[in-house]
Order: sequence, then structure tokens, then C-alpha cells
Amino acid sequence: MRWTPGDRSNIDDARGRSGFGRLGGGVPLSLGGILLLLLISWATGTNFLSLLTGGGSEEVDTTGTSGQVASSPAEERQVDFVDAVMKDVQDTWAQLLGNRYQQTRAVLFRDSIDSACGFAESATGPFYCPEDGRVYLDLGFFEELQNRFGAPGDFARAYVLAHEVGHHIQRLTGIESRTRRAREYQPDAANAISVMVELQADCFAGVWGHAASQPGRAAEGKVELEPGDVEAGLRAAAAIGDDRLQRMTTGHIAPDRFTHGSSAQRVEWFRRGLESGDPNACDTFAATTH
Ligand SMILES: [Zn+2]
Repeated sequence: MRWTPGDRSNIDDARGRSGFGRLGGGVPLSLGGILLLLLISWATGTNFLSLLTGGGSEEVDTTGTSGQVASSPAEERQVDFVDAVMKDVQDTWAQLLGNRYQQTRAVLFRDSIDSACGFAESATGPFYCPEDGRVYLDLGFFEELQNRFGAPGDFARAYVLAHEVGHHIQRLTGIESRTRRAREYQPDAANAISVMVELQADCFAGVWGHAASQPGRAAEGKVELEPGDVEAGLRAAAAIGDDRLQRMTTGHIAPDRFTHGSSAQRVEWFRRGLESGDPNACDTFAATTH
């Protein structure tokens, strides 16, 4: 992936005000089971949070904190990376949605944060909070993606961000509120609806991937995919499917508990977005998936 550092206007740097700090230059603490918990929680997405907290409305104070935060050049590069990807994903959607698009930002935190969707720890994994329309991320998740789930590479990380922005698109287009009501009216179908929501966010991530794979973008200071990037994204999609997560934790698979979709489904929908570049190809609610 080729990308150019920007002005960081697409992030809220809350690393200095959250949690209880870290040992040694921003390297996250990795405590055995936390790692699995992190991905499992990520797999349950925003539902998990709102279930726990019943939502909330307080605003999170995320004004600039740079200067107080102990960081490393490698971590600062990751901050620039998140900013560059967030900008590119958002520019892409602003083109697709026109004036229906509203800007969001990625809130970077360490260890824990008091978000508008409630208290969240790093173990929650990246998530989108519909209450304040922000993406939340602890940079330590990128290392877990690489070390635990065998999904290294910039594009695997970008895919995670683009998936979360996909949830932002669902909020802006009314899909989020419609599916939230549908889950309330049909509790038995709540899981199946969650899967459709998540697979659509995967497909939306693919829509951005399609845009980012057009040649000549790097010369304009935009993100440009390189050979191998798409494969890395597909690996990430496969790595974090519910079936694989469940197999890793329980040794067997229980499809009725899936909330994100199987690895095969995630790959399939990511690919649909990637190949078409068209959000209309992402109607997981109309399509029959298996
Ligand atoms: Zn999601």
C-alpha cells in the first residue's frame, strides 16, 4: 500500500487521556487471554457495547493531547497511517454519497476510553459508536491482527478501518436505525440481522478497496493499493470470521451464535464490494447468503 502522511485531521488523538498508560514507548501490554477476548469482542461489534451499556449520550472529550503521550516513531507512523486511510475512505464515500456524507474521525485511545457508547476497553477491539458517529481504535489491535491472526500488512489494517467506516455509512443512510428496530421487533432474528449488517460493512470496505486500487492515485497523494494488498485484505476477512474465532476459543462451531458471518461469507462480501466498487452491490439484506 502506498500512502502519504496528512494533517491528522481525520483522527482524535485520545491516547494521552485514556487508560493507565503503557510500558515502554507505546508497546501495548499483551496479557494472554486478552488477545482472544479482543477479537471476539471486535466480532460482536457495536451491538455488544450497546447491549452492555444501553447506549448513552455523553460526549467524549477528545481534544488534542499530543505532547503528553509517550509514543515511538513506529507508533506515530501508525497514527499517520490511520489518518491517511480514514481520509481516503471518507473522500471515497463523499464522492459516492455526495452531500449525504458527513465526516467522521477515528478516536485513538489506549487501554480504555469513556465513549458516547459507554466505557470501552482495548479488549473491545475497534468499534463504531452510532451515538457520536466516531470510530474507536486502540493501535494495539493492529499488532494482534498481525501476531495472533496472521493478517499482517497495511491493507489488513486499512480493511478494519474501512469496515468501521462502513458502519458509519449504514448510520448515514438509515440502515443502522432500521436494522436496530428490526432486531428489537424480531429478537429471534437478531443474530441473522447482525450478520447481514456486518457483511454489508465488509462489502462497503471492499467498495473503498476498489477505489483505492485504481492506478495513479499515489501520485496524487492518495492511498494506492499494490499487488498483494487485496490478498492481505481477504486474509484479514477470513482471519476474523466468526467460525474461525469460535473454533479458536471453543474448538467447535455454533452457527446460530454468529454475529459477523463466517470467514467464507466475509471474504465473499468483501470481494463483491472490491470487484464492483458499487455500494448497491452490498445489499446483504436482499441477497441469500450461505
Ligand atoms: Zn462491524
